[in-house]
Formats: sequence, structure tokens, C-alpha cells
Amino acid sequence: MRDILIVGGGYAGFYAAWNLEKLLRTSEARITVVEPRPYMTYQPFLPELVAGSIEARHVVVSLRGHLRRTTVVPGRVTSITHADKKVEVRMPDGSTRTLEYDIIAVTAGAVSRVFPIDGISEHAIGLKTVEEAVAVRDQILTAFEDAAALPPGPERRRLLTATVVGGGFSGVEVFGEMLALATSLLKSYPEIQFSELSFHLIEANGRILPEVTDKPGQWVVEHLTQRGGIVHLNSRITSAAGNEVQLSTGERYASNILVWAAGNATNPVVASHTDLPVDARGLLITRPDLRVGTDDEIVEDAWAAGDDAAVPDLASPVPESRTVPNAQHAVRQGRLLAKNITAVVRGELPRDYLHHSLGTVATLGLGHGIFQYKSLVIKGLLAWLMHRGYHVLAVPTWERKFRVLLMWIASFLFGRDIVSLESVQHPRAAFLEAIPPLATLPVRMPVEVPRAG
Ligand SMILES: Cc1cc2nc3c(=O)[nH]c(=O)nc-3n(C[C@H](O)[C@H](O)[C@H](O)COP(=O)(O)OP(=O)(O)OC[C@H]3O[C@@H](n4cnc5c(N)ncnc54)[C@H](O)[C@@H]3O)c2cc1C
Repeated sequence: MRDILIVGGGYAGFYAAWNLEKLLRTSEARITVVEPRPYMTYQPFLPELVAGSIEARHVVVSLRGHLRRTTVVPGRVTSITHADKKVEVRMPDGSTRTLEYDIIAVTAGAVSRVFPIDGISEHAIGLKTVEEAVAVRDQILTAFEDAAALPPGPERRRLLTATVVGGGFSGVEVFGEMLALATSLLKSYPEIQFSELSFHLIEANGRILPEVTDKPGQWVVEHLTQRGGIVHLNSRITSAAGNEVQLSTGERYASNILVWAAGNATNPVVASHTDLPVDARGLLITRPDLRVGTDDEIVEDAWAAGDDAAVPDLASPVPESRTVPNAQHAVRQGRLLAKNITAVVRGELPRDYLHHSLGTVATLGLGHGIFQYKSLVIKGLLAWLMHRGYHVLAVPTWERKFRVLLMWIASFLFGRDIVSLESVQHPRAAFLEAIPPLATLPVRMPVEVPRAG
């Protein structure tokens, strides 16, 4: 009986645990997942969640609902000491637990890459979690509601201004979806004109979407611009203090919403709180079979996959290249992790990870998309349909696929839900308002109850 501990129940971790449950007999191993959230997040759906095309709960997969044999520990691993085969876990109540294991699989993913820029910690919001996506959606909806009640002027202009930092995959997708949502809201807000919307995408490099080649990348810039977006290339944000965005080009404007999608940074527990070997970027040094270590030296009983691992990309002609951090790899590595751990537990040989990219497909907002596979480029509605088709098949479990599909059908028939639920952040407000001040309460005399008999 081996104790298998998985750090992180995201894409790779969830798939690893799910498949381990299927492959290993109960007499062979106990499986534990340590994950601070009770669910796995399907991140590729976050931009559509921002746009109101998918509901928040449909983007996540309940760990307890699907991992029947796994012990789910609702904590955050703060250190991994493989020499002693122990992890420290910070529990929700602030206490610390030490868990021991025989085999560890580290799938803690990445965190948002943030730079120390004035005003960022006060005003910006990331886009890696469902909470962040819900908040951005509500911010846009609330901004329309508030702006419609104001006369034209600087405050109304600020409310209708949004900024996305980062022209990579997630930045472009969320920008396209935000633009689509804002444009569609105009139907319900006749007080607001299209010309009042000011949506900015900021990219430090001279082009966006590094996952596609130059020409399709340029097409995406033109496409977003035609739809009213303002794309700033070769521009860095230098300050966001007081909600005023300042760019390295000297441009400045007041922005109500600031979404930070400037890429991945390594997860701190992997980068600096473990004795497992990491590379210069802080990623776990991983062999092609997903064991931690190098060709010459295996770290026994330690495995890694997904965004926190530097896995050799055997499909790439470029020597020394590593698989890129995306869901295509995370899901496949998660599955192989389960197969290879099972093989090693049974004294068999693990297989190497090899996956040839299926291409890149991105949503640019309802009805718009881009797809590229080698020299084949598809733009517009067909690419967007491919995006939806791919992701509805890729989201784990049939139950989630069904819910997402039903939501898309409902949105197609009845349009998006356009009510902001920002007030859920203050759930007791209505109740507190209903409580009369103590002084106004009528003073009641104790009522004498006649005794029986
Ligand atoms: C907005 C957005 C859109 C995307 N769109 C696409 C797309 O269209 N196609 C595509 O291929 N990829 C896409 N990606 C990338 C893809 O989602 C990631 O590459 C993938 O989720 C990585 O999987 P993972 O398991 O390594 O990490 P994650 O899925 O991030 O899971 C890591 C898990 O570990 C947990 N964790 C973190 N630290 C700890 C700790 N210390 N202790 C315990 N648990 C911890 C986290 O809570 C999380 O649940 C997108 C990403 C984003 C943000």
C-alpha cells in the first residue's frame, strides 16, 4: 500500500487523481490531493465567464463530486521536503498540518506574473480564478448601470473605460470577450453610445498572440481595432495609481477596470520552498517520463506535470525545448502521470511524454475567433465554433459538458444575463438595513403566562 500525494487539484492534478482512481486497486494505494479550493478550474472558459456566456459554477469541477476514492485536503502546501517525504500544509483555519507520503506528484500550476508598479495592488485584478472572472464581469455590468445614470463627463468616461494588460493568449481572449459583452450591452443601455466605450489592450512587445505567427497576429490586432478596441503595442504600463493608467509612451487615461493578464510566474512553493530540483525559471526539472530529475539522475518517487514543470518537449525539433504551459499539455501530462505512477508501483517501466500540438484556437468574443495549425489559419465564425467545439469536449466530465452546452443554447435563444451581482460581496447589507436602531424598538413588558393547575 503506497501513499500518493498530489499537490494541487487543478488541470494536471485532477486528471492524475481521477485516472489513478481508475487504474490502481484500493489495496495498492491511498490517494490524497491537497488543494485550497474545493474544485478544479477550467481556465480556458474564464474569458467566456467574463462575457456572461458561461455560468461560474459550470467552469469548475467539484473534486469531492468526482474523486470518490481520493482524500481531499482543503489546504495549501507551504513546503515540500522530499528528503523526509513530508509536506507542510496550511489549513483554512491557519493551522499547519504535516502530511507524509511515499510518492509525490507536484501539479501546483503557475501564478500571475506581476511587476511592482504603482497602483497595481490596489486596482488590478488577475484572470486565473473563477472569482476574478466573476468580479470582472460584475464590474463591467455595474459600470454600465452607473454610467447610464450620469451625464457625459469625466466620471462617466472613466466608468466606460477598461484596460487589459498582456497581449498573450488569455489577455487577448478576455479582451475580445469584454469588448463583445460591452458592445452587446448597448442594446439594453440606450443612454450609452458605442463611441463612449474605451477598451484598451496593452502589450509590451510589437505583436500580440505569440502562439500564432506574425500575419494572423496582425489580423487579430486589426480585427479588435475594427470592433472599437484600442490596441497599444510596444507599450508598458508604468503606473495605475489613483485608477489612472500611465503608459511608457506617455499616454495616460482614467480606467475603471484593470485586468492583469501579463503571463505566468512560477508557483512559490515550487520555486523556493522545496528540496526538489528546479531550473533557472523556478520550474521542476522533469524527465520525459514525468519523473523529477534528469536523464542521468532520477529523484525517486517524485513526479511533476503541468505549468509548474519543465517537461522536455520530444515533439519539438529544437533541442532542449520544454512543453509550453497550456491545457493541451496539462491534461495529457496529468493522464500520463497516473499511468506512469501505476506502472512504477507495479514494477513496470513508465512511458515518455510525447504530444504533437493540435494547433492554437482562441475566442475573440461571441462569433469571432482565430485558429492556426502550422500554415493553416482559420478566422472568424468558423474558428470560434472550433474553439467552442474543442473546449466543450475538453472540459472534464459529461455532466459539465452538458451544463455548458445548455447554457450556450439558453444564451443563443434568450441572450446573456446582464444583471450585475456585485452586491454578493456584501451579502448582509440588506439584512443589516432591515434591523431598526435599538432606540426605536418598542419596549415590551414581560407577559405573565398563567400556570396550569
Ligand atoms: C484565462 C486563461 C485562458 C486559458 N486558455 C487556454 C486555452 O484556451 N487553451 C489551453 O491549452 N490553455 C489555456 N490556458 C492555460 C491552461 O489553463 C493552463 O496551462 C492549465 O490550467 C495548467 O494546468 P495545471 O494543472 O498545471 O495548473 P492549474 O490548472 O493552474 O492548477 C494548479 C492547481 O494547484 C493549486 N495550487 C497552487 N498552489 C498550491 C499549493 N501551494 N498547494 C496546493 N495546491 C496549490 C491551485 O489552486 C490550482 O487549482 C488558459 C489559462 C488562462 C488563465
